[in-house]
Amino acid sequence: KPEKLPEIEGHNEVASLVKSLNRMLARLESAWETQGRFLADASHELRTPVTAILGHVNYLLRRTQLSDQQREGLEIIKRESERMHKLVGDLLELSKTGGSWKVELGSVHLKTVLDEIEEEYSKSFEGRIEVQAPEEVWVLGDPERLHQVIANLVSNAIKANSTHIRLVVLDLAERVVIRVEDNGEGISKEHLPHLFERFYRVDKARDRERGGSGLGLAIVRSIVEAHGGSVWVESEPGKGSVFSISLKRASAPHPQLA
Ligand code: ADP
Repeated sequence: KPEKLPEIEGHNEVASLVKSLNRMLARLESAWETQGRFLADASHELRTPVTAILGHVNYLLRRTQLSDQQREGLEIIKRESERMHKLVGDLLELSKTGGSWKVELGSVHLKTVLDEIEEEYSKSFEGRIEVQAPEEVWVLGDPERLHQVIANLVSNAIKANSTHIRLVVLDLAERVVIRVEDNGEGISKEHLPHLFERFYRVDKARDRERGGSGLGLAIVRSIVEAHGGSVWVESEPGKGSVFSISLKRASAPHPQLA
């Protein structure tokens, strides 16, 4: 009988360890939730004053009697407020993803989404945007969110000084891959594993100039993952980058429902 004692003791230790681990997990979970709520509330509250500042600055800039110095000062306030507005918007978006990003999944006609983005960005972009997508491809997705994700990648490609961007759809058996290919400046190897992390920027000073928050790709990843998809990047400095998204293939919507 005495030799059984260590086993029982071990058992108790494991049980109490499991208990305290569970307690710790519960605390972590609630801390995580609190943090997410805080982030959502804080970014929401910050948005109102920034919007007001932007409105007033734009009003003042429209007035004609301004000295060069005054105008320059106002332009700086405007630029910085716009940057803060984007940062706050990105934070708000990201806080929504705290495990519960709402996506309304349905059959999305990919070519329509890509054509819309092409049209939207071609207006202000001097280079060429080309869509190579088969007509008959649908994916399981939320059209608004997919638009947001791909538009974000196109906007990054433009910021990287590309002159030619291709939106290519590869129709595989169960899945569909969307490639955003650019011939911009590319990204060196050491940065690639970190690109999708929050606040990660390749060149802080330069990206600040361009109004980046380093949240764009983190948002892209969390939306894609909410779709059960994945996103990855291949890139070479001086040659360009390819961002790929893999999504589940869907069937064409039923004619009566379409
Ligand atoms: P931001 O919101 O500041 O644009 P992102 O998360 O979208 O940040 O991008 C992270 C970093 O990756 C940025 O520093 C950006 O310069 C770099 N990057 C993203 N896309 C490309 C691209 N197509 N070509 C070169 N660099 C890119």
